[in-house]
Amino acid sequence: MGGREVTDWQGRRVTVAGLGVSGIPAAKVLHGLGAAVTVVNDGDDERARAQAAELEALGITVRLGDGATLPEGTELIVTTPGWKPDKPLFAAAREAGLEIWGDVELAWRLRGPDAAPWLAVTGTNGKTTTVQMLASILRAAGLRTAAVGNIGVSLLDVVLGDEQYDVLAVELSSYQLHWAPSLRAHSAAVLNLAPDHLDWHGSMEAYAADKGRIYEGNRIACVYNVADKATEDLVRAADVEEGCRAVGFTLAAPGPSQLGVVEGILVDRAFVEDRQKNAQELAEVADVRPPAPHNIANALAAAALARAFGVPPKAVRDGLRAFTPDAHRIAHVADVDGVAYIDDSKATNTHAAQASLAAYESIVWIAGGLAKGATFDELVAGSAKRLRGAVLIGADRALIREALARHAPEVPVVDLDRTDTGAMLAAVREARALARAGDTVLLAPACASMDMFVNYNKRGDAFAEAVRELSSADG
Ligand code: ADP
Repeated sequence: MGGREVTDWQGRRVTVAGLGVSGIPAAKVLHGLGAAVTVVNDGDDERARAQAAELEALGITVRLGDGATLPEGTELIVTTPGWKPDKPLFAAAREAGLEIWGDVELAWRLRGPDAAPWLAVTGTNGKTTTVQMLASILRAAGLRTAAVGNIGVSLLDVVLGDEQYDVLAVELSSYQLHWAPSLRAHSAAVLNLAPDHLDWHGSMEAYAADKGRIYEGNRIACVYNVADKATEDLVRAADVEEGCRAVGFTLAAPGPSQLGVVEGILVDRAFVEDRQKNAQELAEVADVRPPAPHNIANALAAAALARAFGVPPKAVRDGLRAFTPDAHRIAHVADVDGVAYIDDSKATNTHAAQASLAAYESIVWIAGGLAKGATFDELVAGSAKRLRGAVLIGADRALIREALARHAPEVPVVDLDRTDTGAMLAAVREARALARAGDTVLLAPACASMDMFVNYNKRGDAFAEAVRELSSADG
């Protein structure tokens, strides 16, 4: 099953798995192309019923309360990327020899013949930032582009919309990649690989393999992280177009076929004439905001993809200068009594928190929330010497407390046993009491937020509000 011709879809029986942000538009688009669409959904609540009614009014069949049984006659499944691969629906589909596409695969298949090439980015952390930097660089080069995909802009909308693009900067999650078997990017980057979402993928190997799919069929460059060998291994394992190159990025001086840093300058030794001898200056470290080490790595990865697309060096610099990071990613909230308050609420796993803790010298760390199966020993052991103190919040804070007791017994810890709306204010007060002038109070929870907050945005907002309250109480 496949094909881009509208007529190909006429009467095809497609099952869409899951109502929701990707399922509803997928069902509508396929229905519009003439497919006979059935949507199946596990839930049967009021919201699902309202959504079902809307789809049924269009002539789409919806089956609520049973996402497990394969509808009779299904020829193709288009799934919400979040649905776990071990669901019975998929077992039945595989048994019947059916293809299963996610939202990205659907967009890839439906894109037009002259569609813009994709520069794709995945990794455990830094995806959104890197894709935004990339889009900013491409724009600085005068290209028509957009940052799309997992970043919150639907690929389906973009490939079917009227707007013309020269190239797309595409963020892809491991779930999306799992369900995107035929995707072939112009060039792609895996930024880093650390255990995350293992409950979904089943194992670290399966998670890595799904991330590695991003390199399949790349035409120009597979961009990997020199400091993270697993990403390089994925490049080696990938089946790419002839002539496609492996290009590394590193915070050290780059070797041939790498981008790296020399004396505060981002330099390119991959996309230059005679890379054995030459290097091209791209930008200064100071052009990258914030200039934390992991973020410089993100900038290098973005630069590598842009250079693979033929963007000139000056556009890399201009694009990085024009870039402003999204909220809650190492955002400087305020200085109070010589202490900097930094909101990195987006550090929802230990790998991200590790990067943010590495960016400061003396830290009062606010951490905790939902651990999602993570362990904290490595994180705490690696960061112990930077910790002035720690304030723990949230459901799984005992796990962090125990890791601190094991690896940093001298670090004072405040364990906040409350989850009410004032808890963040209490945490910030405790942090302030621990901090001395010159320190950084860093919200880098290493955990998901949903035990106490609607999402990480709200958690970061609560932190910023608490800091403001603190400083205005002074004034
Ligand atoms: P993603 O889209 O992958 O979640 P973001 O760009 O939104 O990534 O950054 C999420 C968090 O991950 C940031 O708040 C920061 O703490 C951390 N982070 C960003 N880039 C990196 C990186 N290259 N390595 C490790 N951690 C990173």
